[in-house]
Amino acid sequence: MTRFAYVNGCFQPHADAMIHIEDRGFQFADAIYEVWSVRDGELMDADGHFARLERSLRELRISNPKTEAGYRLVIAELLRRNRVRDGLVYLQISRGRARRDHAFPAATTRPTVVMTAKRLDHAAAQRRADAGVAVISLPDLRWGRRDIKTVNLLPNVLAKQAAAEAGAAEAWLVDASGQVTEGASTNAWIVTADGVLVTRQADHDILHGITRARIMRRAQAMGYTVEERSFSIEEAQTAREAFMTSATSFVTPIVRIDDRPVGNGAPGSVAVELRSAYLELI
Ligand code: PMP
Repeated sequence: MTRFAYVNGCFQPHADAMIHIEDRGFQFADAIYEVWSVRDGELMDADGHFARLERSLRELRISNPKTEAGYRLVIAELLRRNRVRDGLVYLQISRGRARRDHAFPAATTRPTVVMTAKRLDHAAAQRRADAGVAVISLPDLRWGRRDIKTVNLLPNVLAKQAAAEAGAAEAWLVDASGQVTEGASTNAWIVTADGVLVTRQADHDILHGITRARIMRRAQAMGYTVEERSFSIEEAQTAREAFMTSATSFVTPIVRIDDRPVGNGAPGSVAVELRSAYLELI
């Protein structure tokens, strides 16, 4: 089956889809992206992801080339053409193509818009969640505006590769004061001995995960206390539970951090409960 990508107004066979070598996304990582999970043909948490998309563009002063309705039309067509009912939609918008020069190009430069869709095996993700996953800790080497969802992902790529080489599913990144910021592509959570949920405050140091925000509201509605504060690797290793959240992994229990088991080394009941609650909600 031919896969299709969307590039600047046209659907093209995925294998032939291209952008110019002087695109600012390619040259400078001067681009933002967004990812929606798709279940049973529906976008999950669509509004939250659209809101973050607009915010990322605004923060970088890239003009939004489409309306939300425009994106939704393209996404629907992309899902149809690629026959995706369970998977994800990826959108990237760069500041456009211009002669290489660090400062912004002329205001008339059109942003580059690329969209792809792919199938994901939700059953495999469920098996991973049922078993629980391991994470390793690494220094957080990223820049000071991690709240903007830019394609500037080299430190995340290196961290994820280190995790894979260590047989772990994720790397938890640790700031200069020894506190966990987040995972390479997920937000980080622990559950304390008293059953309080803890996740780092949403400032410039972490991506404001849409799943994080949704789980926070859901957990509060279920009667849990949620504290937004930072925590160390040691606090996480000795916590009752640890888990991670993201649009494509939902809520995934963590059973090992570096060389130490978390809790009794099995997925924690709060994480399991929140995962089912999230999937029911959506
Ligand atoms: N942190 C980082 C660094 C991420 O890349 C992601 C997801 N791409 C997340 C957290 C989770 O965000 P969301 O729940 O919106 O997928």
